[in-house]
Amino acid sequence: MNTLAQYHSLSGKVIFITGGASGIGRAMVESFTKQNAKVAFIDIDDDAAQALINNLPQANLWYRQVDVTDSHALQQSLVDACAALGSVNVLVNNVANDRRQPSEDVTVQDWDQCLQINLNPAFFASQVAMSFMQREGAGSIINFSSINAIMGQPQMAGYVTAKAGLIGMTKALARDYGEFGIRVNAILPGWVATDRQLASWFTEAEQVKWMEAMALKKLVSPEDVANLAMFLAADESSMITGQGIKIDGGRL
Ligand code: NAD
Repeated sequence: MNTLAQYHSLSGKVIFITGGASGIGRAMVESFTKQNAKVAFIDIDDDAAQALINNLPQANLWYRQVDVTDSHALQQSLVDACAALGSVNVLVNNVANDRRQPSEDVTVQDWDQCLQINLNPAFFASQVAMSFMQREGAGSIINFSSINAIMGQPQMAGYVTAKAGLIGMTKALARDYGEFGIRVNAILPGWVATDRQLASWFTEAEQVKWMEAMALKKLVSPEDVANLAMFLAADESSMITGQGIKIDGGRL
């Protein structure tokens, strides 16, 4: 059973999450809502988003269907959420697509598309969010990388490259904007037991093998990851910036 952390400093803050309709994103939307934060999220999957919205209190909730590879629509959604909710105090760059493809088959178009979804949106969303955060003299940006950025992963060269790039971007932006009170950190999940992951390529035997390689011998839940995101968003982590933090149950 997961315990939901309580961070009073998040009450009333505006949290903007990309890809909030399912998986870890949905767990974050639900968890930040329980902190009395104002939550804005975008997603390409309108059905999943509507299903989530129907189960949440409607006050202080903002949603729009956006494809993050459309940089203009992405940046405009931040501007509109800021106008609707009053600010953007925390940005969570969560969207990814971890499609597998043998490296020898990757075309120039495949490579560009991979970076367009897994790397570029985090920069262009951050650009807009940081302009609001600079005005406030404070803010927190959380980029979703992966332990694959460090360990590698077969048939995922583009994804692994993008996830490693996010760690570099995290450090670069932390240096550029630290003096304005803006913190930028990355979360590096290991395998997380989202509905999609449980239903896809991980068989039960593979799950057991994976757990055996972990110090804690149990799967990481989306709520475990949401707890880390809330900590990095909250004032309690006010001296942490430029870091990539693994949450993998101790793959070590
Ligand atoms: P997911 O694929 O289950 O959910 C991603 C969300 O993004 C979905 O709601 C999807 O509809 C949305 N989305 C996809 N493409 C989009 C687009 N073009 N525009 C807007 N929205 C779009 O992801 P997840 O497993 O919950 O992972 C969340 C983050 O954590 C990702 O960055 C992922 O790389 C990282 N991560 C996850 C795991 C894991 O095991 N789940 C492991 C390591 C890293």
